[in-house]
Amino acid sequence: AKKDGRGLARTFSRAMLIVLEQREMLRRSLRTALQEGQFFVEYQPLVRLPSSVVGFEALLRWRHPIVGLIPPSVFIPMAESDGLMSEIGQWVLEQACRTATTWPAHFTVAVNLSSAEFLREGLTDRVAQTLDAVGLRADRLELEVTESVLLERTTDNLDALNTLNVLGVQISLDDFGTYYSSLSYLKNFPFDTIKIDKYFIKDLETDEKSQTIVRFVIALAHGLGMRVTAEGVETRGQINWLQKEGCDQLQGYFLGVPMPAAAIDEFLRQSSLA
Ligand code: C2E
Ligand code: CA
Ligand code: CA
Ligand code: CA
Repeated sequence: AKKDGRGLARTFSRAMLIVLEQREMLRRSLRTALQEGQFFVEYQPLVRLPSSVVGFEALLRWRHPIVGLIPPSVFIPMAESDGLMSEIGQWVLEQACRTATTWPAHFTVAVNLSSAEFLREGLTDRVAQTLDAVGLRADRLELEVTESVLLERTTDNLDALNTLNVLGVQISLDDFGTYYSSLSYLKNFPFDTIKIDKYFIKDLETDEKSQTIVRFVIALAHGLGMRVTAEGVETRGQINWLQKEGCDQLQGYFLGVPMPAAAIDEFLRQSSLA
């Protein structure tokens, strides 16, 4: 009889409190993480079919001194809501562009843009200055944006992406098929590549609906003169299917996991893809 609803509520809120305190602790340490050098960037290979590495996507990592590795899905939303993401994003851009200058000249580097970077004035100038400062050709940089990023201030964002496109920077529409998936973005924005979200790739070998959707997106992209990248490729069977259907590029654990910049030379030597 003692274990009534109130007791339960009490334990539950204690657990919630601990979770909230941990989030607050993380949030506070996020503020100094950049200065303390706790961020680093990993690079995941992008493979053009039939089998050549054409570039890498830069993926941000945070190693907290006590907690250890914290996934971007946890800390990036925190950084966004605390107004830190624009500065962190600029740091990733610089790191990624600098690293790409050490690669063979036909390799591109893809960098994810958050809405914070669009909302802060001067995105196109910052990108142009960064390319200039590190000496990377504009067409070796790919910027990845999701539809959710474009949702706010759509005309300003369209202007920014058009300017970047004119500079020669490549633009990818990330996570296509999730979020709001408005086809009007495809009509109006200067995308070079559509990235099909891994949600449609994971059951590609067995699920006919996923197959129909992926086939449709490939045809749609090609009809619009864009390339298609399939994300989250984990099996040989998925590769075979995507190749047969005319997908241009692949990314996923089967082809290469995200790795530190220092591991790339070795990866290219070992892999049959280079
Ligand atoms: P994303 O841009 O869609 O990046 C691809 C994510 O899929 C990465 O997760 C990658 O590790 C994961 N992945 C790659 N291959 C496979 C696979 O075969 N199977 C599965 N299940 N997953 C695979 P990660 O690194 O945890 O990043 C998560 C998200 O965080 C990214 O999704 C991106 O939205 C965001 N993010 C990461 N780095 C940055 C950054 O520098 N700036 C911004 N704004 N966002 C970033
Ligand atoms: Ca991405
Ligand atoms: Ca372009
Ligand atoms: Ca993606």
